[in-house]
Amino acid sequence: MNNNHSKTGQITKEIFQVGGGQLTSSEDAAIYLINFAGHAAMVDAGCGGAQNRLLINIKACGVTLDQIEYLLLTHCHYDHTGGVKALKDLLHFQIVAHELEAPFMEKGDNVVTAAKWYGARIQPFQVDYKISGSQEDITLGGRIIQAIHTPGHSPGSLVYLAESAGMKVLFAQDVHGPLHSDMKSNQEDYRRSLELILSLEADILCEGHFGVYKGKKEVAGFIRRFLTTRN
Ligand SMILES: [Zn+2]
Ligand SMILES: [Zn+2]
Repeated sequence: MNNNHSKTGQITKEIFQVGGGQLTSSEDAAIYLINFAGHAAMVDAGCGGAQNRLLINIKACGVTLDQIEYLLLTHCHYDHTGGVKALKDLLHFQIVAHELEAPFMEKGDNVVTAAKWYGARIQPFQVDYKISGSQEDITLGGRIIQAIHTPGHSPGSLVYLAESAGMKVLFAQDVHGPLHSDMKSNQEDYRRSLELILSLEADILCEGHFGVYKGKKEVAGFIRRFLTTRN
């Protein structure tokens, strides 16, 4: 076990993990919270099976629910989005996703969202803010979060890049894949996207299922694992 590798809690003074694994429910991919001086955004939403715990965890980070301006979705898969509809009924955030990914969530496609794999059904929801093309900037509390298109694991996968405490923090949820035709994965795109996220030289990687990697070398090492293995 590496000392730089923690699974829970505070990541920088502005960034926290609030869901995933033992923080909420075992089916949930990681859920992160960004708090830029009272302007907050969540990254992904988990399956929704432990919504109360998620809300408690958010408040424990000093963020009130009405401060959450965005839900930044990395991609459509159920372990990241199953909880979105119920959260949207409670909170007033704008849902952000890539335009190539939005239709699967808006139509409630149980195959492409992988809900079927979980023996579940995705509750459809509208994407309020559609990212188009290869990159767009989102403003949160006067600061920039870059949304970068990284197709491969899914057609409209996004990573989000923010700066916090002088470090580049990358939210790249399913760097590890997997790739599957049901999810419309693409091997070539996936490799290109891995090269792209490697080139961002992030100091911290917030992953969906493998926790948080700190240090440029640690981050690059983790990403390279998937460039050298077949997925
Ligand atoms: Zn996932
Ligand atoms: Zn996924």
